[in-house]
Amino acid sequence: MKTLILSLLSLVTLAWGWDVFTSVAPTGVNTMWAARQEALHLSGLLSVAMMSLVMFLATRPAWLETPLGGMDRIYRTHKWAGITAVSFAAAHWLIEMSDDTLKALVGREGRVNEEKFTGFLEVLRDLGEDMGEWAIYAVLAMLVITLWKKFPYRAWSILHQAMPVLYLMLAFHAAMLVPTDYWAQPVGILLGALLAGGVYGAVKSLRNAIGKSRQATGEIVSVERLPGDVCAVRCHLNQDWRGHRAGQFAFVTFEGKEGAHPFTIASADRGERTIDFQIKALGDYTRGLAGRLQVGQTVRVEGPYGRFELARRKPKAHQIWIAGGIGVTPFLAWLESLQANPQQAPTADFHYCTRNQAADTFAQHLTTLCATLPSVRLHIHDASRGARLTADTLAATDKSEIWFCGPAGLGNALRNGLKSMGVIPRFHQEAFEMR
Ligand SMILES: Cc1cc2nc3c(=O)[nH]c(=O)nc-3n(C[C@H](O)[C@H](O)[C@H](O)COP(=O)(O)OP(=O)(O)OC[C@H]3O[C@@H](n4cnc5c(N)ncnc54)[C@H](O)[C@@H]3O)c2cc1C
Repeated sequence: MKTLILSLLSLVTLAWGWDVFTSVAPTGVNTMWAARQEALHLSGLLSVAMMSLVMFLATRPAWLETPLGGMDRIYRTHKWAGITAVSFAAAHWLIEMSDDTLKALVGREGRVNEEKFTGFLEVLRDLGEDMGEWAIYAVLAMLVITLWKKFPYRAWSILHQAMPVLYLMLAFHAAMLVPTDYWAQPVGILLGALLAGGVYGAVKSLRNAIGKSRQATGEIVSVERLPGDVCAVRCHLNQDWRGHRAGQFAFVTFEGKEGAHPFTIASADRGERTIDFQIKALGDYTRGLAGRLQVGQTVRVEGPYGRFELARRKPKAHQIWIAGGIGVTPFLAWLESLQANPQQAPTADFHYCTRNQAADTFAQHLTTLCATLPSVRLHIHDASRGARLTADTLAATDKSEIWFCGPAGLGNALRNGLKSMGVIPRFHQEAFEMR
């Protein structure tokens, strides 16, 4: 995630730097005014580059899953690129507003002359300027509600649908206002490519075409209400479903007006297009879901996505698998997929953290699944008996490979605990949060 964002920021800065150092500086321009002008250009370029990345990643490009480590990571990159974009947009706006301060400090003399345009082009540039200003206010407001976790997800996702329109306004602003000489420079070519990627994403989103090629419909074949507010749903999908690998997830729409929610496919690929979901009541929609779903009801499933896959493990690494609560779902799929060939199961320590083993939906099922896999050692940590998982219990070394799915707080505590012990294993973490 960081690598992609930093690489793109560096590339844009280099391209901008190339233009600065190869262009002939206009005479009579005060250094402060010249620096302001370039800072305005650079902040605008960086903001629109990040925003274009955001829009492109919003199309859920499955081909980027391998290099970026899965769709959950693509979403995290989308989020952090968005935050970076808005930060540069705010800087761009502040630099633009610094006009009066600079006039007071160094005077009007030595200002950079603005490019002159006439006719329709001038009208378009004025429109681009206004659009940029409105869009910046809107994206700043969007950032605030994105970071304000208490803002309800549903209301946020409705407002978030305005992003493609805001992006198109910002793209228009950028295309109209960048210096004309950019278009004959590497910076212009790069900007053009980024705008093309972003506009593609925005238009695809506005046409509601994202993920269409990976969608299958089907029906619910069973619904079960399990202890611990868990709803177990089995769906049978039509021919459009291409199958999945254990550990992947899908966007599932049970009710059209609600839209899709991401859930891990908690079963192995049985080759008959029947897949299971285990859904914990974690919010407004999932609460009471078992009472609302009915056998025979139509379901739409988009996917599969994700790279939380056993096949990606390092063959020689000591395997440590950790599930916290409903984070057990990818491991259910792994364990089920290993049942057919128990001898292919790697040697692994599987830690399952539960609040109360006696009332737990999955503990017994995991014990049964692991009983046929002698190389997988199951450790159940029952918090009601004071058994909490800590970093030192893992017996991890730098050569271990950890696969974690569970509450972010537990994941961070384990990572920090290992770090303070001087142990840095390979750590895969499936994010159950996309916002
Ligand atoms: C890759 C992945 C796999 C998941 N697998 C499972 C699983 O196997 N079992 C399970 O019980 N839960 C799983 N979740 C979590 C599940 O998606 C949320 O608990 C559920 O969407 C909450 O919806 P809500 O309206 O009830 O809750 P809300 O209170 O509205 O939302 C709670 C949080 O859930 C997330 N969320 C809500 N709606 C959506 C949406 N439409 N798209 C994306 N995120 C949303 C947001 O982070 C939000 O802050 C998974 C999440 C991800 C990202």
